[in-house]
Amino acid sequence: MRVLLVTTYELGHQPLLIAAPAARLRDRGHDVRCLDLSIQPWDPELVDWAERIAFSVPMHTAMRIARQAITLVRKLRPALPVACFGLYGPFMDDVADHVLGGETDAALVDWVDGRHDPASGTRVVVHLGREAAQAGAPVPARDLLPSLDQYAHLAIAGEERVVGYVEASHGCAHRCRHCPVPVIYDGRLRIVELDAVLADAAQQIAAGAQHITFGDPDFLNGAQHSLRIVRALHERHPDVTFDCTVKVEHVLRHESIWAEMADARCLFVVSAFESVDNATLDRLDKGHTAADAARAVALLRERRIEIRPSWMPFTPWTTLRQVQDLLEFVAEYDLVGNVDPVQYSIRLLLPEGSLLLDHPDLASHLGPYDPERSSYTWTSGDPAMDVLQLELAAIVEQRQTAGDDIPTIYQALRAACDLPEIAVNADTGRPRLTEPWFCCAEPNAEQLGGIAER
Ligand code: SF4
Repeated sequence: MRVLLVTTYELGHQPLLIAAPAARLRDRGHDVRCLDLSIQPWDPELVDWAERIAFSVPMHTAMRIARQAITLVRKLRPALPVACFGLYGPFMDDVADHVLGGETDAALVDWVDGRHDPASGTRVVVHLGREAAQAGAPVPARDLLPSLDQYAHLAIAGEERVVGYVEASHGCAHRCRHCPVPVIYDGRLRIVELDAVLADAAQQIAAGAQHITFGDPDFLNGAQHSLRIVRALHERHPDVTFDCTVKVEHVLRHESIWAEMADARCLFVVSAFESVDNATLDRLDKGHTAADAARAVALLRERRIEIRPSWMPFTPWTTLRQVQDLLEFVAEYDLVGNVDPVQYSIRLLLPEGSLLLDHPDLASHLGPYDPERSSYTWTSGDPAMDVLQLELAAIVEQRQTAGDDIPTIYQALRAACDLPEIAVNADTGRPRLTEPWFCCAEPNAEQLGGIAER
């Protein structure tokens, strides 16, 4: 069978989520090709070639772009079987013939082989039954993808380095209410075998990666497993640096590991701070307070590790004071250079199944579902905050297009929030990836327009 696997967006890294099923399909004797629409042009000839086409939709942005691409596929080949898989797969059942969420690699092979169980329905199928996420799986077929140097790089002290991407686990043990992960995984975790993680890292290092991103939703859900991987990676590749994503609660709970993580060359940790308003953090079930977030910054810095917070400033309960407090927090803890400016304009998304939907505090704000945006609509308690959100988003987009540095953009955002200019650390050399987007953000016009223009 000729199978085309399409990815639309994986946060700027080489897409593991199609490389892994591509390897399985190839092992089964299928002819597989991959298309990454985040950096490759739309290719009608590939659609013409394919007998099956499957879209990876691991996040909101990817889902929105995939919807446009599927419209084009339907025009070209109305009868071509289309599947969608990944965290947002189950929410694509209005445009795809078969949708899969959770641990989908083996199920995708079943679909291509025609072995899926029609009795279980051809639409929403959530596969969580595998013991280890990649047990017995071949090494991801990264040879079918554009080279690593075409993806996001590590920027550090004026230098850029090639980045590889692996996942040591899927899912999450937590159930933060705004997060799409528990909608599918419901507080469950699937470990990826140590050898599989190391083999994938090794093939990327051989292909030029100098830094590895551990893209687990939370790297310390399985702390001992992750530590074993870090030790082995450092032993085999002592010059390779890495980053990972860890929630505040875990940064603090696993205080004793950070010195070793730093010695193993952990450069930075991404952490979802979301807000500095404790009532909001409580509604989201984040498991931390603003004071905890501040302690996490200090704890990691003592170990020479920078923290890169992600934020969700705009919720139905946001006030101007809260946005101002967030900006002040960033300055107070010397985080201006650690925050991608787009983070200051993120607005809560409410996809189908969101655990926030039945929160009593949301009831008076909740509107109807908007299929176009793939989110329930909501209104702010203070309508001026909707205006401010759009204003901040426009400032960030314009300033980034103009090439302004992060401290300059930060000052512009302060001004828009009625805060005076202050002296901030102008260090722009802190480690970061050169891909500033955020998985739960609305796609921008360039991302959405790119498919149609091709
Ligand atoms: S926000 Fe992070 S810790 Fe919370 S459920 Fe999602 S992945 Fe897990």
